[in-house]
Amino acid sequence: MTDEHRRGPSAVVVGAGLAGLACALDLCRAGWRVTLLEASDGVGGRMRTDRQDGFLLDRGFQVFNTSYPQVKRRLDLRSLRLRPFTAGVVAHTPKGRVRVTDPTREPGAVGELLPGRIFSARDLAALAALTARDAVLPASVTKGRGDGATSAALTRAGVSDGVIADILRPFLSGVFLEDRLETSARFFHLVWRSMVRGSLCLPEKGIGAVPARLAAGLPDGVLRLGTSVAEVTDAGVLLSDGSEVPSRTVVVATDPATAARLLRGLTVPDTRTVTTYYHATDRTPMPEPTLMVDSSGAVLNTCVLSEVAPAYAPPRTALVSTSVLGGDLPGRSEATLRRLAELYGTDTGDWHQVAAYTVEGALPAMLPPWPLSRTARLGPGRYVCGDYRATGSVQGALASGARAAREVSADAGRQR
Ligand SMILES: Cc1cc2nc3c(=O)[nH]c(=O)nc-3n(C[C@H](O)[C@H](O)[C@H](O)COP(=O)(O)OP(=O)(O)OC[C@H]3O[C@@H](n4cnc5c(N)ncnc54)[C@H](O)[C@@H]3O)c2cc1C
Repeated sequence: MTDEHRRGPSAVVVGAGLAGLACALDLCRAGWRVTLLEASDGVGGRMRTDRQDGFLLDRGFQVFNTSYPQVKRRLDLRSLRLRPFTAGVVAHTPKGRVRVTDPTREPGAVGELLPGRIFSARDLAALAALTARDAVLPASVTKGRGDGATSAALTRAGVSDGVIADILRPFLSGVFLEDRLETSARFFHLVWRSMVRGSLCLPEKGIGAVPARLAAGLPDGVLRLGTSVAEVTDAGVLLSDGSEVPSRTVVVATDPATAARLLRGLTVPDTRTVTTYYHATDRTPMPEPTLMVDSSGAVLNTCVLSEVAPAYAPPRTALVSTSVLGGDLPGRSEATLRRLAELYGTDTGDWHQVAAYTVEGALPAMLPPWPLSRTARLGPGRYVCGDYRATGSVQGALASGARAAREVSADAGRQR
């Protein structure tokens, strides 16, 4: 990007998570003079990676989906050096350990999908029809559908209660960060579509590489880290240090709770909380890059991160990531370790807990009817964006930022 943007009108964007980064990048490209204010010491918001004692620790386990339209539009995927997960999951069910693999990707691994043990012929037909529809139909069709809870949509599609309880609920709980499957079915269909069409991966150097790549595209001088906004005023924004940044155009791209504080009258959804435990061990408990889910609900999901991307752990050490719903309550980490022993079929007594991250406000609670995209416009010169204004996902956050930038530019064009 050239210095061309320095000649246009000015805008302040508050928050350098994915939404704020997308908004700032698009405004810069459209010729705006942008100041992107970020309270913390780095970009990425909920998508950051810490380095600790040779480990890479994402601030809450998450996966990166290559098929999101905003991802394809904005990122050179090769530069992220993506490491894929196995196409499918291992599910711990009351009937034992089941490997559920996408037969279109790994045709040799259809074993568990044969009717009988877990899936009936009716289940397989229902899932195949649902998957084909989501994969093939344009996203606009999904967006135009009525909405309801995901659990009801799965039942309506013909999937049995058993398969929902043993396979789909455990898997989708990790996507929605809730285990009742009350999340919007419209969101479910979009996520299912993106999973069928893309791969689940992690950047070689941690999930934080994604926002870091985006931030590298900002012109010099746009981003100001360690700059917390205390108030949105009639003249612009007031910083926590008491100084002001004047601007007629302000876009608030923070988490929903902060946005509700900065923008009077803004209503925001409830959010979900998740805790990710990281354990180190000398020997990998599962020599493959596969996500494991647990139908007992004791853990949401677990995987050996160093099998996905070796740089997540020092040499000769395995790093295991395990997420649970809610906070790190007393006794939770011990109970999780006991459950991990059952899930991996190994003694976890000598596993060492490297870190625990509890992320409050990890995702918006996307209850139906959930509008998949909302306007950023709040009033003259005041805008808002963030995943909770679209969908709780990388795609949603980026798309919401993009929409805010479009609306800012369109409004300015109308005033000229
Ligand atoms: C544990 C976890 C797992 C997830 N898993 C997935 C997944 O597998 N796939 C997927 O697609 N998505 C996943 N997500 C969701 C995805 O990470 C988020 O939707 C996305 O990162 C949200 O971006 P955002 O820009 O809307 O908000 P945020 O990332 O919250 O960014 C807001 C920014 O505003 C800053 N800020 C706040 N207050 C102020 C202030 N007063 N002044 C200045 N700056 C301020 C914050 O520091 C932050 O940088 C997951 C999220 C979490 C937490």
